[in-house]
Amino acid sequence: MFDTLTNSFTTAIKKIRTFDDEKALSKALVELKKSLLKADVNHKVVKQLIDEVGIETRKGEIGKDQFLEALRTTLHKLLEVGGNKGFVFAPNPPTVILMTGLQGSGKTTTTGKLAHYLKSKQKKVLIVAADLQRLAAVEQLRQITTQIDVELYEDETTKNPVEVVSGALKKAKSGIYDVVLIDTAGRLAIDEELMDELKCVKDAANPSEIFYVADSMTGQDAVKTATTFKEKIGIDGVILSKYDGDSKGGVALGLSSQVKVPLRFIGSGEKMQDLEVFLPERVINRLMG
Ligand code: GDP
Repeated sequence: MFDTLTNSFTTAIKKIRTFDDEKALSKALVELKKSLLKADVNHKVVKQLIDEVGIETRKGEIGKDQFLEALRTTLHKLLEVGGNKGFVFAPNPPTVILMTGLQGSGKTTTTGKLAHYLKSKQKKVLIVAADLQRLAAVEQLRQITTQIDVELYEDETTKNPVEVVSGALKKAKSGIYDVVLIDTAGRLAIDEELMDELKCVKDAANPSEIFYVADSMTGQDAVKTATTFKEKIGIDGVILSKYDGDSKGGVALGLSSQVKVPLRFIGSGEKMQDLEVFLPERVINRLMG
């Protein structure tokens, strides 16, 4: 993960050998800017980052150490939107999570991955099949839940996701579940019908948090749709899926600050174990070498 981003970043840093004046600093900033743009980091985010690194560096004695320190501080500010937390449990179980996203974004797969992750932490999970738009979604969840040995709640007697969610939450009242993950319907594009249905499902679920699954292969479109979901439904975190297929990787760097919602997990493959908590410190360490 982050290979291209890391490569171009470390190459840029290597080029910056010793420097001690304003001219050298400007050169270093140009190298940094080039590496970020090459990795497809949003140009506004790049500008903000470069400006801040410049300001931070000039606060001390201009030199490589001060520059790298400034870069680290600025990356922290960029990535630590809303604090980074991975999965957060509600004070009283079950923690109810609404999984949202466009069709094909990887939402159903990510729901399974998240359940697998929680199971590995000895949590009891109930997955709710509330994506009734896509015919194959329920069957897909049956296969996933069998594979990871997690319980699935489905109700074939209704086409109304609100009824499914209400039934699932009634079942969850038994108190045995730590987490309820609700897989909601996606559409190929954002439309009013999707948003209205989601609002009703949200009201019925009263979720602890809403996660938006964004396909990193769609680059800046992922940022745009996440922003729309935030405005219309309210989202508490983004999970960036298909990061393994994103050859550049820059979207992860700009997403949190652009959408102003923390990036919580990153999906990096089709297998159930291919999910990582997004930890800014780890990413920064990788980037800075
Ligand atoms: P949904 O319509 O949003 O529920 O999408 P799905 O969960 O059905 O995923 C769509 C496709 O993306 C499937 O073929 C998944 O196997 C694949 N997929 C999901 N997450 C990832 C990921 O992190 N990496 C890769 N390479 N493929 C993924």
